Order: sequence, then structure tokens, then C-alpha cells
Amino acid sequence: MKRRKNRPALKTLVLLVCVCLLFIGAARTYEFAVTAADRREVAALAPVLVDKLVVIDPGHGGPDPGVVRNGVCEKDITLDVALRLAAYLEQGGARVLLTRDKDCDLADPGAKSRKRQDLERRVAMANDNKADIFVSIHVNSFPGANEHGAQTFSQPDCTEGHELARAIQRELQTLLRNTDRVAKKADYFTGRTTKMPAVVVEIGFITNPREFRLLQESSYQSKVAFAVCAGLVRYFAEQSGAVPSVQ
Ligand SMILES: [Zn+2]
Repeated sequence: MKRRKNRPALKTLVLLVCVCLLFIGAARTYEFAVTAADRREVAALAPVLVDKLVVIDPGHGGPDPGVVRNGVCEKDITLDVALRLAAYLEQGGARVLLTRDKDCDLADPGAKSRKRQDLERRVAMANDNKADIFVSIHVNSFPGANEHGAQTFSQPDCTEGHELARAIQRELQTLLRNTDRVAKKADYFTGRTTKMPAVVVEIGFITNPREFRLLQESSYQSKVAFAVCAGLVRYFAEQSGAVPSVQ
């Protein structure tokens, strides 16, 4: 008798668990999907990308792994996101140069200052080809686990660079919905030495457990890449006067 009485309760429990799992699944899909409306808005402005030359710089590579956590290297995440960004930009009609498209650096193996030579050659690729903009992709880290959110940096004395950083940051905020960080000015070698507006996009914190997981997921990498692409579209649209500049 006792067992019979418990069956409806068990059924209700199983049903509840199923509903919860469905809800969690739906929430995840909603959270990580770029909406059709987002895509339509970016697509409408995408013609501003035609014939623009964008140099995408996946941070680190080769002997320089960047930040590492549990064997997961920054250099691999930045390359994955950069390749996705390149695909989005090319779909929009932009020309794209990647400073690297595999796990390598640009320096000579025996170079005295390998890191310096690597960075100089990345910048030279943009300057020699007269790129319109230079976008470096990096992953952030912090001693504490709480810091989170993507953030875009530009050179302090470059107004256009800051406008570019702001446009990208706005799209990161809108599309990722997980950061209220704002575009910031910071002195980087790449920003100091490129002849065109340059930004560094720190796409998240490897030291934050949630972002550590997300940064390895292809759906999240695509979403970050789409947000950066949308930022570039917005920047070029603002520069051409197609849309008003948002302060
Ligand atoms: Zn880095």
C-alpha cells in the first residue's frame, strides 16, 4: 500500500525534474543564441564592410601560450575566435588578414627578443598592407575568480581607436548580456605602433570559472566573434555617417 501511495509523488517528481531540465535547456539556448533581429540589424549595415581591410591578430601562439588554466591555453582560444571573426567579416565583404592562422608566432626561432620581434611583425603586416583597422584578440586573467566580462581597449591618444573600442564594447554588452564593462584606454605595443585605429579585445577571464567553461564552447566563441564583427560594422557605419555615433 505504502509503495502505491508513493507512485504519484514519484511521477510528479520526475515530471518536475523534466520541466526544470527543459527550462534550463531553453534558457541556455536563449542566452547563447544571437537573435534573428540582431543578425538582421548587422546584415542591414554590413555593406559598409565591403573592401575594408581588417587585420585580425589572435594573441600569442607558438612557444607563447598566453594565460593557461588546467592545460587550456589562451593562444588556442584566441585563434578559434579570430577564425570565426574572419569568416563573419569575409561574409560581409571585408578583406581580412590574420597575423597567424595556426599555432605559431612570427619571430625567428633564434631571435634575441622573440616576443618583441613577433609583435613588430604583426604590426608590420597591418602597416605594410595599409589596413583600415587592427583587432587583437586576447583572454584576460586576474588573481581572484570573481572578475568577469569582455572588455575592449584602445590607445589613449587615438580618438578613432576609442570610437572603435566603444562600438565593439557596445555590441559585446548587448549581445553577450554578461558585462557592464566599458571601453577603456590603455597603452599596448600594438596600439602604439600601428598606423590605423587598433583595439585589444579581452574576450573574457580564464580565471573566472563560468567564463573558463564558456570560452571553450564553440557556440560562445561564435557569439563573441559575431559581437566583435557587429562592433566593426557599427564603427564603419558611424564613420560613414550611415548611423549616428552613440556616445
Ligand atoms: Zn593575451
